[in-house]
Amino acid sequence: MRFYITTPIYYVNGEPHLGHAYTTIAADILARYHRQKGDDVFFLTGVDEHGNKVAQAAAERGLTPRQHVDQLAPRFRHLAEQLGATNDFFIRTTDPEHEAYVQQFVERLKAAGDIEKRAYGGLYCTACEGFWYERDLAPDGTCPDHGIKPVWLEEENYYFLLSKYQERLAELFRANPDLVKPRSRYNEALSFIDQGLEDISISRSSITWGVPVPWDPEQVIYVWVDALINYLSALTYARPGEDLVERFWPAVYHLLAKDILKFHAVIWPALLLSAGHSLPTGEFIHGYLLMGGEKMSKTRGNVLDPFAVMDQYGIDPLRFYLMREVALGQDGVISLEGFEGRYNSELANELGNLVSRSVSMIGKYRDGRIPEAPVDEVLRDVAAEGEAMVRAAGAHYDVVAVTAAIETVWEYVRRLNRLVEEEAPWKLVKEEAQAGRLDMVLHGLAAGLRLVALAIYPVIPGTAEKILQRLGQAHGAADLLLEKAAWTGLTPAAVVVGPPLFPRIEAGG
Ligand SMILES: [Zn+2]
Repeated sequence: MRFYITTPIYYVNGEPHLGHAYTTIAADILARYHRQKGDDVFFLTGVDEHGNKVAQAAAERGLTPRQHVDQLAPRFRHLAEQLGATNDFFIRTTDPEHEAYVQQFVERLKAAGDIEKRAYGGLYCTACEGFWYERDLAPDGTCPDHGIKPVWLEEENYYFLLSKYQERLAELFRANPDLVKPRSRYNEALSFIDQGLEDISISRSSITWGVPVPWDPEQVIYVWVDALINYLSALTYARPGEDLVERFWPAVYHLLAKDILKFHAVIWPALLLSAGHSLPTGEFIHGYLLMGGEKMSKTRGNVLDPFAVMDQYGIDPLRFYLMREVALGQDGVISLEGFEGRYNSELANELGNLVSRSVSMIGKYRDGRIPEAPVDEVLRDVAAEGEAMVRAAGAHYDVVAVTAAIETVWEYVRRLNRLVEEEAPWKLVKEEAQAGRLDMVLHGLAAGLRLVALAIYPVIPGTAEKILQRLGQAHGAADLLLEKAAWTGLTPAAVVVGPPLFPRIEAGG
């Protein structure tokens, strides 16, 4: 199976923030999970560097747009690295290969008879870089995403005949209800299509920072069209000398926040049809992380710096918390208190302690070596539940239900903790007659933790690798494959004692 996952390319009009981190983490989880399935995976992220907002941000800093993007793009690339993202490529829309591909793409739209020059006036939100219909504005006439009043913009531009695609898009949507998830977002996109699509301007004459229209260099291509095309252009030059389009298109899944649904679920599919491509296989729309009930966004200024959070607590706790606290796809409130609570109760107590106790008991009671033991009735259920847990978590990852996957794994972590309490190895070790039972319990804890590590690897990969390392298990890419997730896949090896995986956060700390 092929699996091509994308984040939106991030707009470099400001510093990276937690909203960017959230989408990148979610995409990375899916990429890692599909690699564990043995799929042929390509994971793309990057930055959107053109458009008026970028030019304005540069001017405010006294820089040229080129200087501005050259300073900011590395910050976004660094964020992906810090998050542990395993992206296969990082695209910049100022890459000459991308710019040439955008020109070639719009030439195809023109050749299909889908481009016309027209005069147009409309209400334009400079924060969205998009026109709004009056009916879609907030009651006070402001942009519902940004709370600012759109301005009247009048230009002679090139238009893409989006209206031509209304029926075909409606048909394709009705034939494929899984095209956009969750269902509420699918319904939103479909109702937008059913309301009637109007042709859209795809060039600007008032802006110079962009990709020139190939047949009229006085105009630049609308930044959104330029940006959407990255999902295809990247495949043409990410691997020098290799065109990945045939390999990965249309096995593509776009991950994005709900404020850019219309661009991805309506405009992009129409552009693809016009240029002769298939539609993406799926789009998954996530919600917003809210701090104190407000959408966290650069425009509103309520920014939580993911770099500071990671510096203090590490990458995995951040990845875990964001996916655990808010069901992916919904809006949800996050807070430092909530983070510390889950860190202490779930990561430090439930998982971290289980690993420490298991390794230390194997150390003390069996000279640091996982004992060989058959699966008999003592552990038959625990073994079966462990394998079922891996399958159930996989079924959740398959439908982008990451939060549910984590819950499934954690139920099993709690099951293993109960096993320790019920069997009390510190008592078994005192009775010679219970030596075989102690072997089974210690072997079972190691085998169970190995399954936990494989199932939770997409979310907290560094921790999963540490657990395998503590258990003396190999943890290369081949060892992480889910086809290896059998109870009997454990190697009776020497364990490695180490510091706590998650040192507790003390109150007030
Ligand atoms: Zn707006």
